Order: sequence, then C-alpha cells, then structure tokens
Amino acid sequence: MVIQWFPGHMAKAKRQAIENRNMVDIVLELVDARIPISSRNPLMDEIVGGKPRLIILNKADLADSNMTNDWLEYFNHPEHNQKAIAVNAFNQSDIKRTKNIIKEMMIEKMAAREARGIKPRAIRLMVLGIPNVGKSTFINQIIKRNRAKTANKPGVTQHQQWLKIENDFELLDTPGILWHKFEDQAIGMKLALTGAIKDTLFHKDDIALYALELWTNRYPGRLKQVYRLDESLGKESYPDMLMALTEQLNFGDEYDRASEKLIFDIRDGKLGTFTLDEVPENTNSQ
Ligand code: GDP
Repeated sequence: MVIQWFPGHMAKAKRQAIENRNMVDIVLELVDARIPISSRNPLMDEIVGGKPRLIILNKADLADSNMTNDWLEYFNHPEHNQKAIAVNAFNQSDIKRTKNIIKEMMIEKMAAREARGIKPRAIRLMVLGIPNVGKSTFINQIIKRNRAKTANKPGVTQHQQWLKIENDFELLDTPGILWHKFEDQAIGMKLALTGAIKDTLFHKDDIALYALELWTNRYPGRLKQVYRLDESLGKESYPDMLMALTEQLNFGDEYDRASEKLIFDIRDGKLGTFTLDEVPENTNSQ
C-alpha cells in the first residue's frame, strides 16, 4: 500500500493542530458526507481531545440523503454523543444553520463565563479535516460577506490569522490538515473514487471495477440509464462490464480512458448521489 505522508510530517501536523485546538472553543471537523468514516483520520479523536467538536458532513448534496440521515443518527446517538450536521458548503442557509448550532453548543459555556463576570467574547473556531473534504470552501463561505478585519491576535504559525465573522465568531484562517491513513484497500478505493487522493495511486481500471460492482449492486439502473450498459453483465464478470462500457463509449480498447470517464462522471454526480460508507449495523454496541 502506498504511504502518502511521512511520519515526521504527520507528527508536525498533529502537534500544530493540538496547539491550535488549545486556542479555540470548538473544533469543526469536516468529513465528506459520502465517506463519513473513511474520510476521518484515526488521530482526529486524539487531536480533538476533550474539546467540543461539531462533525460537519460536507458535500451532502453529493451524498445519498437516506444514508446521510442514518449517519447523522449514528453520530448523534447518545452512545456516540458526537454532534453532527450535514451541509452543502455552497448553500448559505446550511452555513447559517451551522452558525446557529455552534452558538447553541456554546450557550452554557458563555453563560457560565458571564456568571463569573467575564466579558462576553466571540466564539473561537478552527476547521480540521483531511484534504479535499471542502475545508477552504467552507471557510470562504462562512466568512463570505461578513469578512471584517482580521483580529489582531497572534496565531500559532506566523502567517496564521483569526478571521472575524460578524461579532460572533473568530476562525483560524488556516485549517488543520490531517492526511487520511489507510491500510485497508477498500478505504483507499473510496478515497480515490471521491477524489480525496491522487488518481495515480491506484490503477484507474481497479477503481472503475470497484465502482461498477458498487453501482450494479447498490444503485441498480443508473449505469443502464447513463451508459445504456447491460447490468446483468456484472453478474458474470466486472471486467466484461468494463469492456462493454468502453465499447459503448466508442473508446475502442482504451479501457483506461473509459475508466477515467466513469470515475469523473461519478465524482461529478452524473451517476446520482451516493454514499460509500455504510453505518454499522448495531449502533448501540459501537
Ligand atoms: P480542502 O482541500 O479540504 O480545502 O477542499 P476544497 O475546499 O479545496 O474543496 C475540494 C473540492 O470540493 C472543490 O472542488 C470544491 O468546490 C468542492 N466542494 C467543497 N464543498 C462542497 C460541497 O459542499 N458540495 C460540493 N458539491 N462540492 C464541494
């Protein structure tokens, strides 16, 4: 399995994220709603520590909405007690809802501060997540139109600044980036299919075969609708199905080209919304 990060880099990123965490009230952990577990670094829990955290299932517009609801139920279950919401970072009403939830999460802490006679202040936030989950987009959208002067407070890294959002929030402008870590090939495939890791880490046809199998079984009818592909071929062999797709696309014997098209179409949502991580069966025992 290809390793895409070096232990030294990871240690530094982790150290920095922990330093930043200590300066904020709430950590906003962004994950990809299509792979809510595969897009989380296992170190995340350690980094977040006891700090209040809001898990944001971003790109919910691209995910299977029924499964997103199941995931929200899973995270918000008392057993897991991890507050989670689903958003489309480009949707301003989702951004507004996120802000309201953050305020709700802080009500008690702020009231306690006030009771001790401490002056009210903005809620300090940081965004954390693996690459490509939409951290920059989310930050840009949350400060949109409300971007005031950046607060004059030193951040941990030299160039880091606090972005003021209305009078309510201060957000560290640089998100914490943690790489995905996977030993499991299936997680790698999911990251590749959603665009979270470079295409070059896997053979395109392997990803395409994985996708053909998934869509045939999980989302029947879509391959037929989009490519006029005979889905019963999958019952025989997925490589045969890939050959049929290549033919259907008039790509001769360029299987890689057909694989790439399939992967890009999936990422663009042309084969519909989808979620690749399944909620564990018995929520209570997790
Ligand atoms: P980062 O690496 O975590 O900072 O991710 P980016 O903010 O660069 O986003 C990665 C890609 O996902 C970009 O092409 C964004 O336009 C796209 N993206 C981010 N958030 C959303 C979302 O909620 N919905 C959709 N459809 N695309 C999104």
